[in-house]
Amino acid sequence: MSDEKTSAAGLALRSARRVVVKIGSAILCGEDGVRTEWLAGLASDIVALRDRGVDVVVVTSGAIALGRNRLGLKKGLRLEEKQAASAAGQAALMQAWQAAFSTHGVTVGQLLITLDDTENRRRYLNARATLRTLLDLGALPIVNENDTVATSEIRYGDNDRLAAHAAQILEADALVILSDVDGVYDADPRASPEAKRIDVIDAVTPEIEAAAAGPNVHAGVGAGGMASKIAAAKIACGNGCAAIIAPGHYEQPLARVVNNGAATLIRASASGAGARRQWIGGRLKPAGEIHVDDGAAKALKDGASLLPAGVTQVAGAFSRGDAVTIVDAGGRVLGQGLSAYNSVEVAKIAGRRSEDIESLIGYKRRPAVIEKNDLALRSE
Ligand code: GLU
Repeated sequence: MSDEKTSAAGLALRSARRVVVKIGSAILCGEDGVRTEWLAGLASDIVALRDRGVDVVVVTSGAIALGRNRLGLKKGLRLEEKQAASAAGQAALMQAWQAAFSTHGVTVGQLLITLDDTENRRRYLNARATLRTLLDLGALPIVNENDTVATSEIRYGDNDRLAAHAAQILEADALVILSDVDGVYDADPRASPEAKRIDVIDAVTPEIEAAAAGPNVHAGVGAGGMASKIAAAKIACGNGCAAIIAPGHYEQPLARVVNNGAATLIRASASGAGARRQWIGGRLKPAGEIHVDDGAAKALKDGASLLPAGVTQVAGAFSRGDAVTIVDAGGRVLGQGLSAYNSVEVAKIAGRRSEDIESLIGYKRRPAVIEKNDLALRSE
């Protein structure tokens, strides 16, 4: 199932720490409802990522497809019928997700959001707080659009862009879009048999957008199509998050990407990463301080993450995800970063090895106190 060579998408997914996985209706739902066996495979993939300390958020479609069957509606629904179908289908959709994860002892939490929620700052912050709290509590957040109240003008309409915004809210470093296509092609593969899948896209250019135009291969189940996937990738990449467009119909589709199976990686734009660093280093007000020893100070300058072993002291009360000032042994400010643990936890794990985190605070999210991508060091 894996290519002999390492794939760029595989590498990106293996190194990601916060991942949004978007699942389209076409792969999740069959004629008779949710494809539970397939979902069980995906659940074990997600659990494997979580076990490696990766924060995972799911964006799932399927409410309308499931509700349509339950209400005996035909395809080609009017907006009101879509809203009714989503109301009838959302409960069934969540039930399926809950069942798939209960066997792993993972609690799922449902977030239904609308375009407004990502555009209005207060609601955006609320959505972010809910996501983070669920993750802190070890739950798996599952997001869908609130189709029942989202009318055409204020509607995402497809979950691809919704997923890109979820990635932005989560400050994810990878957005994986699983669908019934196996990547981005340089031309429409139905129209030109010689169309080739592109492994890596450095930037979404007008040519890529033009090649992606046209309806989905299995249009009718999901709302997206390649154009909406490219639009989502563009949003994600502009926010410093890589996008991976991968085939979802295989059993364990994420493991397949991790093992270098076919997929297209659309790299995060450098300016997106730069904007993120600027945001970490500049616009965020630090909520506390983390003091580090000389070894850690040197390692940070060399591009490493901050491990608990290098932390000597903590000041202030901060939550997980807050910005903190990093101070060296001589009292100099090295820069700013987002702490993966709260101030009480950092104080407990200071000076200790990453392997001991779990025994010290009862759980382990990830080995570093501040991940390298969450760091903005001052230039000397
Ligand atoms: N929110 C819709 C649903 O759950 C799906 C939209 C899409 O297919 O992208 O049915």
